[in-house]
Amino acid sequence: MTRHYDYLAIGAGSGGIASANRAAIRGAKAAVIEAKAVGGTCVNVGCVPKKVMWYGAHIAEAIKYSSAYGFNIEQKGFDWSTLVKNREAYIERIHGGYKRGFESNGVDYIEGFARFVDSRTVEVNGEHITADHITIAVGGRAMIPDVPGAEYGIDSDGFFALTERPNKAVVVGAGYIAVEIAGVLHALGSDAHLLVRGDRPLRYFDHDITDALLERLKQDGPTLHTGCIVARVEKNNDGLLSIHCDNGELIEGVDCLVWAIGREPATDKINLEAAGVTADAHGFIRTDKYQNTNVKGIYAVGDITGEAQLTPVAIKAGRLLAERLFNKDMPDAHMDYSQIPTIVFSHPTIGTVGLTETEAREVHGDNVKVYRSQFAAMYNAVTPHRALSTFKLVCVGPEERVIGLHGIGEGMDEILQGFAVAMKMGATKADFDATVALHPTSAEEFVTLR
Ligand code: NDP
Repeated sequence: MTRHYDYLAIGAGSGGIASANRAAIRGAKAAVIEAKAVGGTCVNVGCVPKKVMWYGAHIAEAIKYSSAYGFNIEQKGFDWSTLVKNREAYIERIHGGYKRGFESNGVDYIEGFARFVDSRTVEVNGEHITADHITIAVGGRAMIPDVPGAEYGIDSDGFFALTERPNKAVVVGAGYIAVEIAGVLHALGSDAHLLVRGDRPLRYFDHDITDALLERLKQDGPTLHTGCIVARVEKNNDGLLSIHCDNGELIEGVDCLVWAIGREPATDKINLEAAGVTADAHGFIRTDKYQNTNVKGIYAVGDITGEAQLTPVAIKAGRLLAERLFNKDMPDAHMDYSQIPTIVFSHPTIGTVGLTETEAREVHGDNVKVYRSQFAAMYNAVTPHRALSTFKLVCVGPEERVIGLHGIGEGMDEILQGFAVAMKMGATKADFDATVALHPTSAEEFVTLR
């Protein structure tokens, strides 16, 4: 039995879903194939459950601040399993929403694992499915280091599967995931430790911002261990783990070890060779700016391409690909990978778009001018937990075009989006200055920098 489609996406994550829906809206006969849960990493084991956990952590912090605001609250407990149950019920509702979206757009949703048979055909559940256009959107998975005892640890998927709060947790890694998970564990009451190889987490971020993060971690955060590479992990008779680092550090009594050292592409089992699609040495499928792979009619979007591994990037790239293929008015549609804003859901959040000061100086030398501000956000300034926010603009040229905007502070996650629009439009420092401040907010610091 064979079915034929105009457009087929392999992987119902952010990129696959967005592209298949847009293709169908533009009149294509479209399908999407998924081996696990609809929604992919973001919905099931990424952005969505992470943000729910972060909100839980945010409430824990608000309880901590509450006495300074006059509340007399006795916290009788915290039930991790209730948070997880409500989080998973929410995710179930999202699954339902996706499936209704497929129905209303006329996209066929096929459950199963797809393998290429040739450049126009995949096999799933024993059936051959052919398509004129096939998009590989299979995403990635967490990497686990090759050290003795690594199997005693879990990855971020395992973190979201936890049914109880760990007592003592070690998170290894220095990227978004490590910082976010360690921060949530700390705020929700675990004795949390963050182990990084270098001198700081997020070392590619602007150093004024990570300096402020280091300060915050010292004041109130997971215990940071720097210069620490895990050499081996032992499981003791009591079931607890001992983490041995190559610098001699030993962390004992650990009941939860999370590896967050990066993610790798999940292309190894889909039989790329049969389609003639080539991947790079790490397994990423590199594309041109139109998401074309080396094989005509086969495309790749999302984490599998190794470009900015972010849900909105996969969605935008997927939709623009579908527009290019099926909308005759948009033959040149393609993703612009410049000035992509991102947020790290740390405590408080970090937001960044454009070049760091170091990157800007490498490109533009002395033509760079930097404005920065450190201030206590009102939210915690009235509490004993006074902590500083750091906001920064990186500008270039005599017109002082804003090419980098970075911040760590309360509300940074909601502040960034609008400024990212301004930067995309080429805003200058003078445009920022000409904008009336919103008072009293943290955001106003960006339009009042001196
Ligand atoms: P990242 O690639 O961002 O960071 C992993 C870091 O871990 C490396 O940069 C490295 O930092 C460190 N590392 C690597 N190997 C080891 C090792 N053996 N031992 C100790 N540390 C090691 O990966 P993540 O898994 O955090 O995130 C993957 C992607 O997911 C990110 O690129 C991001 O785009 C996306 N993401 C985005 C989020 C958001 O937008 N909020 C949230 C979560 C993920 P160093 O070299 O400094 O040691």
